[in-house]
Amino acid sequence: MGDGPVDPRRRVPRTDTLLADPVLAAAAASLGREQVKAVVNRVQDRARRGELDPDEVRDAAVAALPTPGPRAVLNATGVVLHTNLGRASLSPAAVAAVVAAAGHTDVELDLATGRRARRGRSALDALAAAVPDAAAVHVVNNGAAALVLAATALAAGREIVVSRGELVEIGDGFRLPDLLESTGARLREVGTTNRTTLADYAAALGPQTGFVLKVHPSNFRVTGFTSATGVRQLATLGVPVVADIGSGLLGADPLLPDEPDAASTLRAGAALVTASGDKLLGGPQAGLLLGDVEVIDRLRRHPLARALRVDKLTLAALAATVHQPNTPTRVALHADPGALRERVERLRDRLGVDGRKAEVVPAVAVVGGGGAPGVELDSWALSLPERYAAPLRTGDPPVLGRVVRGRLLLDLRCVPADADEAVREAVLRVPGDD
Ligand SMILES: *Cc1c(COP(=O)(O)O)cnc(C)c1O
Repeated sequence: MGDGPVDPRRRVPRTDTLLADPVLAAAAASLGREQVKAVVNRVQDRARRGELDPDEVRDAAVAALPTPGPRAVLNATGVVLHTNLGRASLSPAAVAAVVAAAGHTDVELDLATGRRARRGRSALDALAAAVPDAAAVHVVNNGAAALVLAATALAAGREIVVSRGELVEIGDGFRLPDLLESTGARLREVGTTNRTTLADYAAALGPQTGFVLKVHPSNFRVTGFTSATGVRQLATLGVPVVADIGSGLLGADPLLPDEPDAASTLRAGAALVTASGDKLLGGPQAGLLLGDVEVIDRLRRHPLARALRVDKLTLAALAATVHQPNTPTRVALHADPGALRERVERLRDRLGVDGRKAEVVPAVAVVGGGGAPGVELDSWALSLPERYAAPLRTGDPPVLGRVVRGRLLLDLRCVPADADEAVREAVLRVPGDD
């Protein structure tokens, strides 16, 4: 080359060279060559205009690749239903059902007669069979939608009687009272934060009453001088009782004695139970509505029901989850601490062979997802220096742990047992010098 500076435009890497880069080539294989080439060309143009150093073209093109969607992560946080990680992990049966339903399906057709059928009846039938105490069932987009539909159809322009101790915030700044009032229903607050009696409810009833609402305070606990009035007592008041149980347990779980379940709540006299599909039920995001035939009919015929309806993938996952309820959520909740300890010890030993020093420490896992706040699950974790946290989080697959006092804890309770090897490999990919 001569003495003068090289025209930077001549240093811009060629398209073929860039498309041969392993990362860009892999992206071309999954996203399509045309799409990746368009990204590459845009970045080359920026370099030719002098907006980008030609040496940075490859990295800029990689950074500009469209992300293919949410990424699968390994949840080693010890939080079984982590809202930021998508709450429940679907069972293999539910995943298979989603895949099978992804094309054309009989979601709204009776194949025997060739006529239109009630949408999603396989999921609805499964739910009804799993909770015989429910005379009728309906499914909407999530727990919040179930409440909105109930409030709109049963109490718009009228009053919802609710205890001051149950006006909860469900997370991310969303508050149930705001949600309910957005439907045009008025809240008639009764009692106090810590105590609400049957007489408080009775005194508030009148011709304006749409229903009495009972909300399970799922993400906090009030202790001390407290008194709440249960569904069984409220059902004696002569107005419909709607119970938001939150968690989605269909039947009682001895591990979670304080979590209400749909069957017991209906037997106690609730006219309607609302719950989420992706909490303790371990299914897809959904809002479950179980209750009296007349109430459910009003809900599903309301115009808003059409705006809150669930898609065929959700219905497929929900049907499979209810049919085969041994979900990853249940497996994680009921995992034996001794077996978890053995898995962590094996992981530590195998990492030791590769010169990585990790420790095995007791840990406490929680239910999460705004559920069972008082429940602590004995667990075991692999303890690594904190510097592992960021590279594991940004690795492939991302591994999410919890940083506690300068150590990264990887709790295996919510990691599928067949993914321990993936955790080991992820740890080994972090450059080691400890
Ligand atoms: C989680 C929860 C909700 C909201 O349900 P989503 O499925 O998140 O919309 C409402 N009420 C209670 C008591 C809950 O625990």
